[in-house]
Amino acid sequence: MKSISERDKEVIWHPYTQMQTSGMPVAIVKGEGAYIYDENNKKYIDAISSWWVNTLGHCNKYIASKISEQLMKLEHVIFAGFTHEPAVELAERLLKHLPLNHKKIFYSDNGSTAVEVALKMALQFWTNNGLKKQKIIAFRNAYHGDTFGAMSVSGRSVFTTPFSDLLFDVEFIDVPVKGQEEISFLQLQKAAKSDDVAAFIFEPLVQGAAGMVMYAPEILDEMLAICNEKNIITIADEVMTGFYRTGTFFATDRLKNKPDIICLSKGITGGFMAMGVTSCNEKIYNAFLSEDKTKTLYHGHSYTGNPLSCAAAIASLDLYEDKTCEENVLRISFRNDVFRKQIQHYQSVSEVRSTGTILAIELKTSEGTSYHSNIRTSIYDFFMAKGILMRPLGNILYILPPYCISDEDLDIIYSAITDFLESYNIK
Ligand code: PMP
Repeated sequence: MKSISERDKEVIWHPYTQMQTSGMPVAIVKGEGAYIYDENNKKYIDAISSWWVNTLGHCNKYIASKISEQLMKLEHVIFAGFTHEPAVELAERLLKHLPLNHKKIFYSDNGSTAVEVALKMALQFWTNNGLKKQKIIAFRNAYHGDTFGAMSVSGRSVFTTPFSDLLFDVEFIDVPVKGQEEISFLQLQKAAKSDDVAAFIFEPLVQGAAGMVMYAPEILDEMLAICNEKNIITIADEVMTGFYRTGTFFATDRLKNKPDIICLSKGITGGFMAMGVTSCNEKIYNAFLSEDKTKTLYHGHSYTGNPLSCAAAIASLDLYEDKTCEENVLRISFRNDVFRKQIQHYQSVSEVRSTGTILAIELKTSEGTSYHSNIRTSIYDFFMAKGILMRPLGNILYILPPYCISDEDLDIIYSAITDFLESYNIK
């Protein structure tokens, strides 16, 4: 009999995978807390929360039971002209965590669609106001998703090269990493001078796919102040940073100046169901209110506001709001920081950084930082052999664990990293 992996090879095309050279996919048959189990019953610690979504661990019984309850009541209903209790409750509860002036929640399916909706809200805000403002400012090397709008505002890279002529122009500015704040700030100031800037989009505090690049809230706050002054709409892409990933409920909680639009996904359902959310303040929303139908936001997906996703998100919120969640986040953040200090002077390490529950280690290489860095595969294999799922971004290895991970499992990961760093010869 063929294994699941063998059957997969015959029929499936996987994301972000060169199918000709990729090995056998690992078939996972069970998840439990911080662990996933393959078809041979090998256990792995999921050190990256399965592409950053399983913030609350796998197969959380509480979330599962709430989805199951919902499943017996209403699985789905069209969301134009109709509504339901889980969608309303979720919006009410999310708004309690979002900036005070955020008034509306728009549902979609994933992080990329949450960003698409945000871009459309920002661009149409201006046309609805009778103004032609179409320029978007974004950070260099940003990653906002794989749909065309989201790709356009993302850094130009190997991910976007085949489509580069089709992406709209964006004014890219440098990320204000330590030591670069002034340069980046001046670039924003310059870009903001032009009258045609519609919006500024950013991943607050941590640029995920760029390699867990981190920067300080203070400088971002100053950048938002300039945008407010120049009437530029600000869009925070909290798809990865939301739900305590950076230590606070949202990364933008650390800012005094609040974004006009916020994108959420990933951890919103604890990793159970696909969902995207775009929230906005009254200023944005009001620009779409009119007797004139052309001012409508004509955007929607078949599964918008899916009741099962909403139920999963409400149950996840129950857990996020429980004090054990915050305690776990603090515990992981503290331990990551201690470990960061222990390894920062290793010869093979060019930089170690941590923010909240994210720890990133940039390895020295002769080829510099690159997603296609040759060492990526060897790092991946090294950790998989030790039963740890880690998916380096080129020469940057990072952990972004579910909050239920135990201290013992963190120690297993830390010690595997130390073994790796000690055996690594700069290539
Ligand atoms: N924005 C950010 C900051 C992300 O990290 C991602 C996904 N890694 C996305 C958007 C796109 O989300 P999705 O993969 O759900 O479309």
